[in-house]
Amino acid sequence: MARTALVTGGSRGIGAAISKALKAEGCNVAATFAGNEEAAAAFTAETGIATYKWNVADYDESKAGIKKVEADLGPIDIVVANAGITKDAPFHKMTPEQWHQVIDTNLTGVFNTVHPVWPGMRERKFGRVIVISSINGQKGQFAQANYAATKAGDLGIVKSLAQEGARAGITANAVCPGYIATEMVMAVPEKVRESIISQIPAGRLGEPEEIARCVAFLASDDSGFVNGSTISANGAQFFV
Ligand code: NDP
Repeated sequence: MARTALVTGGSRGIGAAISKALKAEGCNVAATFAGNEEAAAAFTAETGIATYKWNVADYDESKAGIKKVEADLGPIDIVVANAGITKDAPFHKMTPEQWHQVIDTNLTGVFNTVHPVWPGMRERKFGRVIVISSINGQKGQFAQANYAATKAGDLGIVKSLAQEGARAGITANAVCPGYIATEMVMAVPEKVRESIISQIPAGRLGEPEEIARCVAFLASDDSGFVNGSTISANGAQFFV
């Protein structure tokens, strides 16, 4: 039986690789985006994966969007909360707007994405919740107090949901990527990128597909006893 998967921010970067990997596993996939219509259209043309536009920071929009996805593709079995943003600034310069935008998208966005699908997963006694956190949620990062707070919060969410969902056949896990070669990272000046790479024992950036394969495992029927865990995929960049 084909599973239905929802990937927020699934039309670009790491999310696009996740959407493709889940499709390759035989899932019916819905990928969401925030506003980049051009990228979403190109992604659908390339992959055949349907895209849906809503703001994960808005609960009502998320709920309505999820209802539409379920009407089109069937009940959601796998939800990947991947959409995320950065608004970096050293703490003494960080504005309340920068704080709230990142909290609303990265942390409340996870609530808004998972909460509407949770009752159906409980009823059907199956669910896979996967949240894309970050190495910077594990170790903190200069100028990312807002972002690191959300990504550390993701780990608390999945550990709590794992305990609540376990008897209902639902697992909740996190993936913490290190630096991945997405547009965002490739856009930084080459010198900065070289300095980032010099701190990664693997001597290279990760590929989006390497994160997608972690997600595909966590989304599979085989991963049922892996619950509340965190996969760190960072080329051995430990938390120093
Ligand atoms: P990208 O910036 O490449 O893509 C982000 C995606 O999220 C886009 O599809 C974007 O939509 C969507 N999105 C952003 N804000 C919203 C919103 N409010 N509502 C709905 N969708 C939204 O990100 P990455 O692929 O680099 O990152 C994906 C995840 O991985 C993020 O959670 C990030 O924090 C995490 N991560 C990334 C790392 C990296 O090195 N790249 C390292 C560690 C973690 P649109 O296309 O319309 O803009």
